[in-house]
Amino acid sequence: MLASVIAGTAVGTAIVAAGYQSMSPTGQWYGRTFTSLSRGTKQLALTFDDGPNDPDTLKLLEVLARHNVRATFFLIGRYVRERPDLAREIASSGHAIGNHTYTHPLLIFQNEAEIRKQLSGCRAAIQDAVGEHSNLFRPPFGGRRPAVLRVAGKLGFDPIMWNVTGHDWNAPPAAAIEVKVARQIRGGDVILLHDGGHKQMGADRSQTILATDHLIVRYKNEGYDFVTIPAMIKS
Ligand SMILES: [Zn+2]
Repeated sequence: MLASVIAGTAVGTAIVAAGYQSMSPTGQWYGRTFTSLSRGTKQLALTFDDGPNDPDTLKLLEVLARHNVRATFFLIGRYVRERPDLAREIASSGHAIGNHTYTHPLLIFQNEAEIRKQLSGCRAAIQDAVGEHSNLFRPPFGGRRPAVLRVAGKLGFDPIMWNVTGHDWNAPPAAAIEVKVARQIRGGDVILLHDGGHKQMGADRSQTILATDHLIVRYKNEGYDFVTIPAMIKS
């Protein structure tokens, strides 16, 4: 599933060789990561990766504010350096901010020094922009191996995965994103969506924003609460 994101690229074959479990969002083979609460819990966590992104992050913040919903944003450090104002807007709106590395490499192919550099670089960028934030970390593409989790642990990070994916990487229509997410919801879920794109700033996430709007209405009507990852972990 996730391997399809990078299938057809030069690294695709190597990922297959490295083992599917290093990419599976819910797999615990390489160490514990937070994925979701137990089934049936009336909480949902929206998570948005690959921002901050101009202009769509601000548009998404408007939608979340309209519904009084707090979410979790996994930011790419180099984008935070480029647009610290957007990171500040996310933080001041009450959302949780997590680390998504500095340049979004597939960490299973990096040595420990590089993994450390990616995590520390992103942390410094976020720290400079917004100050104190969470210790949440999400590996790019969900890729992790023992070294990734070991380094993250040493640096004090909690790895956060997900159990519901919107498959919104290639900006499908909002209706398709909604159907994909709705099919996987069973309560207590961590939902993966994207407000940015890891290749460059400016990715069009209008369909994700529209889908988010509809999903919030739908699941609030069904009695769900939308919470941040820190709030979900504490509950
Ligand atoms: Zn990402």
